[in-house]
Amino acid sequence: MTTRATFAENPWTAIRDAIVSGKPVVAILPCGATEAHGPHLPLNTDVIISESMAVVAVPLLHARGYAAAILPPLAYMPANYAEAFAGTITIGAATAKALILDIARSLKAQGVACLALANSHFDPANVAVLREASKEVAELGLPVAFPDFTRRKLAQTLTEEFQSGACHAGQYETSLVMAARPDLVDEAARRTLSDNPSSLTEAFAKGARTFHDAGGPDAYFGYPRNATAEEGMRSYAIMAEALVAAVKGALG
Ligand SMILES: [Zn+2]
Repeated sequence: MTTRATFAENPWTAIRDAIVSGKPVVAILPCGATEAHGPHLPLNTDVIISESMAVVAVPLLHARGYAAAILPPLAYMPANYAEAFAGTITIGAATAKALILDIARSLKAQGVACLALANSHFDPANVAVLREASKEVAELGLPVAFPDFTRRKLAQTLTEEFQSGACHAGQYETSLVMAARPDLVDEAARRTLSDNPSSLTEAFAKGARTFHDAGGPDAYFGYPRNATAEEGMRSYAIMAEALVAAVKGALG
């Protein structure tokens, strides 16, 4: 039988067969959040984006000789900047890291070859957890692929708005949700939003601790009115290639 791309939609026997097939099995963990993303995007925006990046990456991984499946996503993660907004659910860094390490131990014990972290949630606390967790998972002996889009080299492959730091629920993320789940974008709300060029990354560097402090009283930054599904598709292709490159790097 064949293995479904969505890990948890398989019976256990399909995962066992994939692991003994001889092809390295890459388990992709979509890392999201439940977090305010402006008045036009859903709370699960980062889950949608990370899962969609993984969906685009799976056939690319297959073409390069890997077996790949997408794990159930991380939907609760540190989201301190947005915690003043209704609907945001934030968890502590220690909880988040322990969860990833436990998932990794379980995957390693059954013979999975690589844990790939597909992340689109850029709250600094979350990025710090993922960096620490990927280091510790590798120390457990499970290779980790973590394309960190907050690093300059990868950030430069993404859109101008993303690089400006005005990258929360703006043109970049709105385009990605329009490409994957247009039914969840409130178009009437999106069209009325004024531009908000405030840079989150500059605000982080200056010590801002909330979206309000960073100049985002409605939990969005950037230019959501300029978003298009086409831009979203282009961004997914770039992100998926980065994930594949990270897997190749991790597995040698
Ligand atoms: Zn987001």
